[in-house]
Amino acid sequence: MLRRNFVMFLTGGFLLLSAGSLAPARLLAQSKPLPNIVVLATGGTIAGAAASDVQAGYTSGQVGVEQLIAAVPQAKKLANLRGEQVSNIGSQDMNDEVWLKLASRVNAFVAMPDVAGVVITHGTDTIEETAYFLTLVVKSTKPVVLTAAMRPATALSADGPLNFYNAVAVAANPEAAGRGVLVVINDWIHGAASLTKTSTTAVQTFMSPLSGLIGSVAYGDTEFFRGPIGRNTTKSEFSLDGVTQLPRVDIIMAYENMDGALIDAAAAAGAKGIVIAGVGNGNLTAKAVTALSAQAKKGVVCVRASRVTVGRVSRNVELDDDKLGFVASLDKNPQKSRVLLRLALLKSRSVADVQRIFDEY
Ligand code: ASP
Repeated sequence: MLRRNFVMFLTGGFLLLSAGSLAPARLLAQSKPLPNIVVLATGGTIAGAAASDVQAGYTSGQVGVEQLIAAVPQAKKLANLRGEQVSNIGSQDMNDEVWLKLASRVNAFVAMPDVAGVVITHGTDTIEETAYFLTLVVKSTKPVVLTAAMRPATALSADGPLNFYNAVAVAANPEAAGRGVLVVINDWIHGAASLTKTSTTAVQTFMSPLSGLIGSVAYGDTEFFRGPIGRNTTKSEFSLDGVTQLPRVDIIMAYENMDGALIDAAAAAGAKGIVIAGVGNGNLTAKAVTALSAQAKKGVVCVRASRVTVGRVSRNVELDDDKLGFVASLDKNPQKSRVLLRLALLKSRSVADVQRIFDEY
């Protein structure tokens, strides 16, 4: 463990803990030049601002990338940082245009020999979707690390500065390479395939329920526990080359007394795929099953996932997926299933092909 001498000081509106030996000694070695890390900012609470430091209401995406980097000067001891603003939105507004631009910027930077890794600042609401999307389409094993905050930059005990510092430390660490796209938040390193948001407001909101953490990071001191789950990055078959649009896939939650109205409405709105956030092990009412199976027979690819946070949805348990023409989501929650299905549909609309993809990713 590192010994730390803490000093309190104010910078850019944040009260930060700083330390002479805040960074791992190996990263500060004079003999080694610092790695070059690119910071891509997309907005979110990490760049949010409120009128006072003890107010719940605030606006996401108010602080620009240069201000964000300048607010954590300690990170510059870990890496040479270069910022680029990709968007400045609350991640509830994340959309395909930003995704395609972000993926293209990440791929461009990781292809540069002098860039060691990328840090992306993002909102917490949809970070799990963006991280999963990127882990499927980034063509490099270099570290790509997303980070976020639950409290805006102006809040008492803002969590963004330390999350950002830790994200830079992980991206600058060569051991982070080859583990897929990572999300660093609240001292934990999550894999893109496994993390999910579990609390609307708590700082400890992100969990990786089934497969556990990829690692942990405390004031830049990083430890890795495992590699990634599922095919990703250089082993992924998905590419965005020439892609300007992603197919529409809707998520519909199952509930008591559900009928087929929303399923039919999704298909009528142009959905090429439907993900059901089913009850239990991906179940839904008999009426909804009939409607879903009818859409599946017409070529809409239908995936059964679960509205339950923890657990897998397996094939042919209470429903006969073979007969009904459904795909089982396995370890993917509804929002990750939707991301994977959108990319899968760029390749095939066959249930067997899509189930193979869900098995492998
Ligand atoms: N609504 C915000 C966002 O996702 C929440 C956050 O970042 O914590 O951008």
